[in-house]
Amino acid sequence: MSAPAPVRDLAARLAREDALPAYVYDLTALDAHAARIGAALPPGVEWHYAVKANPDPALLRVIARHADGLEVSSGGELRHAAAAVPGHPLAFGGPGKTAAELAAAVAAGALVHVESPQELRLLASVVRGLGGQARRAEPAVLLRVNLDVPVPASAGLVMGGGRGPFGMDRDGLDECAALLPGTGLRLRGLHAHLASGLGVRPALRAAAGVLRFARRWCDRQAVTEPVITLGGGMGVDYRRPGAVFDWTAYGRGLARLAGTAAARPGETLRIEPGRAVTAYCGWYVTRVLDVKRSGGAAFAVVAGGTHHLRTPAAKGHSQPFAVIGSDDWPHPWARPAVTGAPVTLSGQLCTPKDVLARDVRVRRLRAGDLVAFAMAGAYAWNISHSRFLMHTEPGFHYIGEDVT
Ligand SMILES: *Cc1c(COP(=O)(O)O)cnc(C)c1O
Repeated sequence: MSAPAPVRDLAARLAREDALPAYVYDLTALDAHAARIGAALPPGVEWHYAVKANPDPALLRVIARHADGLEVSSGGELRHAAAAVPGHPLAFGGPGKTAAELAAAVAAGALVHVESPQELRLLASVVRGLGGQARRAEPAVLLRVNLDVPVPASAGLVMGGGRGPFGMDRDGLDECAALLPGTGLRLRGLHAHLASGLGVRPALRAAAGVLRFARRWCDRQAVTEPVITLGGGMGVDYRRPGAVFDWTAYGRGLARLAGTAAARPGETLRIEPGRAVTAYCGWYVTRVLDVKRSGGAAFAVVAGGTHHLRTPAAKGHSQPFAVIGSDDWPHPWARPAVTGAPVTLSGQLCTPKDVLARDVRVRRLRAGDLVAFAMAGAYAWNISHSRFLMHTEPGFHYIGEDVT
């Protein structure tokens, strides 16, 4: 693959300034992508960005121009998102919320995705403790449901259906509904997030299952103006960088789904994608330090590695990359190179797991060339074990305008 001109230009500049490895975030591309997501969704369908995919403040500011809210999964993310985009609607999900986190969420006016009857009791006691003002505000909750909706085996991570620590089964929901009166909490509806790595059709099948169940349950509980969150998990195919999730087809499918029951004035449907929003805007740019052969195979050792970009190790794929040739070779000896052959790109860690791309055919790759790993904008830097081996951390650079 090749990198867009602004990425290549910035990579060359960073190489000259000896500022590699570095992350490069294309805010212009992200802005256009986020606008397309919003435009593809039918009326009545909102989207929240799942901050855990990438909490970089510059990205959050761009996304907040298009998304209806931010979904956070910890007290840390809550504080961070509220500071990065003050006043933007927040939803707080995730298992094992503490009393302190719940108090912070109520103070921030966040919608709370309640994961269990115990958590609902804790939230109610937190609200009682906060007294008058918090109670008058009637903090809103969605109950997170774990449904037996079939999700395909190809889904990256299955988080719903069958047994698991996420959300509640029907008995848990009913127990919560019985607990709610008198707590000062307002039940707004249901939340589900069943799997990640879904294509358009499986995502729509999961959404249909959630919607069918949630509408019936909310009707039975007489929830007025219900909010139903259908989850995130829209797929990103690292083996086919050009095959971006078809938001237009997904939006059309949602419009069809939403229409299968009688028109529901006042109903809000919501999705909360993470990976499929930010994956494509991120590039991890580095330099080839060495090229060598071992047992007949070619290896290129790059500066940095999976302690900066853990995605390929976490998901077991080859991270797609573009080679950016550089004539900068200060040494008097010949540049080691691989030409027209498969090469494995590994990093500087002393572990065989530090592989960014395995046996990928290249036209030419020489020591001193630059490599820009694509699709490095989600679950990349922020899931990486950067302390391992104590290498320096990457720099962060942005293409396009930051929004403040
Ligand atoms: C992680 C997560 C998401 C986002 O998942 P992606 O696969 O990044 O789209 C959405 N909702 C919840 C509750 C999550 O835990």
